[in-house]
Amino acid sequence: MCRKSILLVSLFVILQNSLAQDITRVKSNLMTLCSPKFNGRGYVGKGDSIAAQWIAQEWQKIGLKTFNNSYFQPFNLSVNTFPQPIQISLGKKKLKIGEDFIVGSGSPSVFGKASIIYLDTLIFDNPERKSAFFKQDFRKKAFVYPAKYEKQFSKLNSQETQKILHETILWVSLHDKLTASVSTNQDEKAEVMALRSSWDYKAKKISYNIRAKFIEKYQTQNIIGYIQGTSKSDSMVVFTGHYDHLGNMGGACFIGANDNASGISMLMELAHYYAQNPPAYTVVFMAFAAEEAGLIGSKFYTENPVFDLKKIKVLINLDLVGTGDEGITIVNGAVFEKDFQKFVELNDAKKLLPKVVKRGKAANSDHYFFSEKGVKAFFIYTMGGIKAYHDVYDKPETLPLTKYKEVFTLLTDYVKSL
Ligand SMILES: [Zn+2]
Repeated sequence: MCRKSILLVSLFVILQNSLAQDITRVKSNLMTLCSPKFNGRGYVGKGDSIAAQWIAQEWQKIGLKTFNNSYFQPFNLSVNTFPQPIQISLGKKKLKIGEDFIVGSGSPSVFGKASIIYLDTLIFDNPERKSAFFKQDFRKKAFVYPAKYEKQFSKLNSQETQKILHETILWVSLHDKLTASVSTNQDEKAEVMALRSSWDYKAKKISYNIRAKFIEKYQTQNIIGYIQGTSKSDSMVVFTGHYDHLGNMGGACFIGANDNASGISMLMELAHYYAQNPPAYTVVFMAFAAEEAGLIGSKFYTENPVFDLKKIKVLINLDLVGTGDEGITIVNGAVFEKDFQKFVELNDAKKLLPKVVKRGKAANSDHYFFSEKGVKAFFIYTMGGIKAYHDVYDKPETLPLTKYKEVFTLLTDYVKSL
């Protein structure tokens, strides 16, 4: 073997090792962010704060600078939580939280046993069925209905609506997929969302024990750090992603591997990269809290920025970037056509992703309030692969990371092109 080829082989080995190391680090970061001690990065057991401490610690190791002597920007939110185990049984059958059912995020505490009234789905078109249905006594009953009929309720008159709203003790909607959320208030009525396939339609009674804890002022925090630019340091390229997820709901832990441990791990990789390859522009990293509660952390940031928002050359928000089998979508790509074309060209040049799709304005992640303040902000998410979303199946073990490196390359190539 000649020298040249030995060199090529060893270079290849080094390259392989460094790529392998990166994906090993990504997986390890994902596992950490999704580990039990982080409690789904929600509010039960202070999962959000434990995650925030860890992120800040990692950023410090990487060498990110702070703006005001701290990575943290604290703020308060009100949030409804379920720290106690939630139990639902149909007759003798005990349903499993997370898998068979979840509760409405705004549910108050309720416990007891109730008879079930099923929605007669014919009432919307058949007046006789309707009058027979509403002749029943609804008081203290559990009202069970297929979720797809929710829209039809607007056809009922106010008396009928009142009866369902105020006389029943509990609502149960039946779904093909369970999608959980976080609420900043507590509703009047408790709500259970059950999986259709887990429901026993012969059941006449339901036992329920839902214990909610509403926290008026819960302190959480955004995390902000940066790497100083070499020549255009007064202009910022900002990468954002939310680190919070749904947390623990009455014993079911929503750990959010794709949503959004994937985005935070990508911020970590970008931070490692820019720490070793000093950029021309200052690169800022923002890990937002309380996104799942309604973009609260990023909204708070835009109202209390640590530097003038006008200094932001471009902001890229990363949320749900763990797949990519069908490419990526760029929210606001349709608003900033030129930049979108740049992404497409860079993608074509290295044949990175099968598709780069543009979308208009959307209030669906942390870029939104920046856009509203006039910042050029994009939100990138990957498409295809797994369907797990806001459920207990969004786990690191099953997150494919199909185009993780390609997304990373596209992002760094885009910043280079600025
Ligand atoms: Zn989410």
